[in-house]
Amino acid sequence: MSYDKIEVPDEGEQITYDEDEDVLEVPDHPIIPVLHGDGIGKDVGPAAQKVLNAAAEATGHDIAWMDVYAGEDARETYDENLPQETVEAIREHRVAIKGPLTTPVGAGFRSLNVALRKKLDLYANVRPTYYLDGVPSPVKDPEEMDMVNFRENTEDVYAGIEWEAGTDEVEEVRDFVEDDMGFDATIHDGAVGIGVKPITEFGTKRLVRRAIEYAIENDRDSVTLVHKGNIMKFTEGAFRDWGYEVAEEDFPEETIDEDTLWEEYDGEAPDDVVVVKDRIADNMLQQLLTRTENYDVLAMPNLNGDYLSDSAGAQIGGLGIAPGANFGDGRVLAEPVHGSAPKHAGKDKANPTAMILSGKLMLEYIGWDDAADLVHEAVESQISEHRVTYDLERQVEGGVKLSTSEYAEEVVERIEDLA
Ligand code: NAP
Repeated sequence: MSYDKIEVPDEGEQITYDEDEDVLEVPDHPIIPVLHGDGIGKDVGPAAQKVLNAAAEATGHDIAWMDVYAGEDARETYDENLPQETVEAIREHRVAIKGPLTTPVGAGFRSLNVALRKKLDLYANVRPTYYLDGVPSPVKDPEEMDMVNFRENTEDVYAGIEWEAGTDEVEEVRDFVEDDMGFDATIHDGAVGIGVKPITEFGTKRLVRRAIEYAIENDRDSVTLVHKGNIMKFTEGAFRDWGYEVAEEDFPEETIDEDTLWEEYDGEAPDDVVVVKDRIADNMLQQLLTRTENYDVLAMPNLNGDYLSDSAGAQIGGLGIAPGANFGDGRVLAEPVHGSAPKHAGKDKANPTAMILSGKLMLEYIGWDDAADLVHEAVESQISEHRVTYDLERQVEGGVKLSTSEYAEEVVERIEDLA
């Protein structure tokens, strides 16, 4: 495949996907697109690549990185925010990693992150939230958190269906809502912005199915559907109902609901079943703090998932260490939870751990578990000695503050020692 401005590495090979078997075929030297992104992305991206290269090499693998562009870099090179060839390169190569991309608030272009996820149909944003030994945390027992968040990635208020105050379109929608749909005296007079929140059966079921499959395959105890269905009955309420339906229809032997748990098992679930339960989102946010150990895998509509994963990330040490990845069918785009943190950009100070651990998720997805384990072990041992970047160093006594690149170099040395 040739592109206009993307250079394909000569020595690598493309990862392919067997759709019937639902398996990736990963060559010895896969080409992996990398998008550094904006702001601190340019600091943490190269640092993470060094660590991932070291882990790959130490376990007999090799990655052929292929730079692709979006955001500021793309504006310079292509004079657009998200070039089509970037989307195509990620689509074709199936496994990729990206740093954060800046989104202006209010006016300006729409989120490039949301656009990429939608264009590539990466419908599940998966964010594991687990404690690494030695990480300073604002809560008493951070080790109680060991959760995986599945956030729906393609719909909800992120669908981008909204109209700006003062436009003809928004007045047309107001008329339709008031006159045709009967919601008179509901919207205040004067300027209004209106958005639409689609939650579909299709989008909900494929996300919840993936979360339940994950829970079964990884011996997890429960999947919690997090919604605000008491208020938004036909969107978030429907998410809950369709979520339970998937469990009943697709996993009748492997799942039970909470009523059955209490009625038939007195609250003690058998080892081989996953309990499917639901919580209202506001309650869930306090349960995360007060009953942390009761939650295992969460499945959520887009907005709840966004709020909840940042909050959960704070409990285990902050955004600098919270990894994530966007999954579609036979496709992954790994990316940290954090954004481009413009005030820290270009200072070689941001914490690259979230980007490194996002890379670890990517390595697991391509079946390089040995390399992924090395990354985990090396990062944990680095942090446990409190040799960390500014964000963690300010929270621990006697820590040693390292730059992004120094931190990555030390993690690389640990990988070499551990291998
Ligand atoms: P942010 O970039 O995540 O940064 C918020 C704060 O979190 C930073 O000021 C910093 O806190 C801390 N932080 C984040 N990443 C860190 C790291 N690697 N190391 C150390 N500290 C880190 O959130 P934001 O300021 O709300 O958003 C900035 C831009 O990023 C916006 O344009 C937003 O749209 C975009 N964004 C993109 C993505 C994405 O690409 N997926 C995700 C979220 C946001 P302290 O300053 O207190 O140390």
